[in-house]
Amino acid sequence: MISVSDALRIISEEAKPIGKEKREILLCNGLVLAEDILSKDSLPPFDKSAMDGYAVRSSDTEGITAENPRGFKVKGVIKAGQWCTESINRGEAFKIMTGAPIPLEADCVIEVEKVQAKDDTVYLYNEVKKDNHVIKFGEEIQPGDIVLKKGTEIRPAEIGLFASLGYRTVETYKPPVVGLIITGDELVDIDDAIGKGKIRNSNEYAITSMIRSLGLEVVSFGIVKDDKDVLKKVIEEALLRTDIVITSGGASAGDYDFVETILKEIGADIKFDSVAIKPGKPISFAVFNDKLFFSLPGNPLSAITTFEQFIEPACKKVLGKQEYMKEEISVILGEDFKVRKGRVKLLYVKIVKENDKYYAYKIGSQSSNKLTTISKANGVLIVPEEYTEMKAGETIQGRFIFR
Ligand code: AMP
Ligand code: MG
Repeated sequence: MISVSDALRIISEEAKPIGKEKREILLCNGLVLAEDILSKDSLPPFDKSAMDGYAVRSSDTEGITAENPRGFKVKGVIKAGQWCTESINRGEAFKIMTGAPIPLEADCVIEVEKVQAKDDTVYLYNEVKKDNHVIKFGEEIQPGDIVLKKGTEIRPAEIGLFASLGYRTVETYKPPVVGLIITGDELVDIDDAIGKGKIRNSNEYAITSMIRSLGLEVVSFGIVKDDKDVLKKVIEEALLRTDIVITSGGASAGDYDFVETILKEIGADIKFDSVAIKPGKPISFAVFNDKLFFSLPGNPLSAITTFEQFIEPACKKVLGKQEYMKEEISVILGEDFKVRKGRVKLLYVKIVKENDKYYAYKIGSQSSNKLTTISKANGVLIVPEEYTEMKAGETIQGRFIFR
C-alpha cells in the first residue's frame, strides 16, 4: 500500500501525451495546442472605428467648447465592410459606423451621442484627441507574431482566435480513447430484471459520464462475468483498442477478484496495487505497452472517488494539460467531525461559501456503497491519516467534486 501523494506522483510520471493530430477547430474545445499558432496577418487589418460616430481630423477640433461649437461638412457615410477611397479635408467629416475603416486624413472618431447633426453638417461641442475611438492597424496582432503557444488550453476564446487568424484546423495533443470494463456476476443492466442476489450496474454509467466530462471518448466493453479467462480476453482486447483502460470491480482480494492476477499473467508493469485512501484502497495502476491501466474498486462511491482522485489528473496530463491536478481549497469546518485513524480519508461534505470563505457541513453516512452519499455532496474534505477528531472552526484542505 502506498500513500496518495506517491500514487499521484507515479501516475503523473507515466501519463504523457500519446501523439498529435490535426483537428477541425470546432472539435478542439477542451484540448491542448500541440503547435505554436502564428499570424500571417495584422489584426485589425486596417485602422477602424470603435464607435458609431463621425471621423474627423483632430487638429480641426482645437479650441472647440460647448459654448463655442463648430460645424463640419459631412461628406458621406462609411459602413462596416466598405472601403473608403476619399480623404477628408479641413473642416470635413465622414459619418462612420463601428468596424468601418477610418478614411484617409481622418485620425479620430467622435461618438454620435456627443454631436448634433443638421442637414449635411455635424456640430461638435468638444475637442477630440488623435486616435480617439480608433482601433489601430495591427494593434492587436502583427504578422509573424506567435499568438498562441504550444501547450495552451483551447477554450472558446482560442477557437475564435483561430478563426480570426484564418485557421480551419490546428494541431492538438491526441485525446486518449478510454476503454471501460465492468466486472461482477451480480450485475444486471438497467432494463434487465433484477433476480435474487443481483444489483443494477451503476458504475458503467457514472464512470462513462465522468470520462465524457473530460471530453473523452469511451469504448464500453459492458459487463464481464467474474471468469478469469473471459475477463483476460476482454482486458487484452481493451489494451489493444484503447489508450487508457479502466476496470470496475474485481479489484480486491476476493476469490473472484481476478484483475491483478490477469495483469501479472499478461506481463503488465504493476506500479501499485493499493493506496492508503478511504474510500478506494484497492485501486491499482499498471502500464502495459505504454497504455495506462486502472483497476477501480466496484463500490460506487469508491469508484467515483478514485476516478476523480487518480484517473482525472492522468487523463488531463495525457491531454497535454499543464494544470492537471485537482484544485484544492481551504475549508473551515462548520461543525465537529470524527473519523477513524489511518489512511487519508475523503469525507463527502456540503461546501458552502459564506463571506468569501468556504465552510463544510456533514451530509450523512459516508458508507462506501452509497451513491446517495455523493449525490448530497458537492465536495470532499481531505483528512490526513493521523486525524481523528476535528472541531468546528478548524481549517482543512478540501475540494469540489465533479468540477
Ligand atoms: P468488488 O469491487 O467487485 O468487490 O465490488 C464491491 C461492491 O461494489 C459490491 O457490493 C458490488 O456488488 C458493488 N459493485 C461492483 N460493481 C458495481 C457496479 N458496476 N455497479 C454498482 N455496484 C457495483
Ligand atoms: Mg466483484
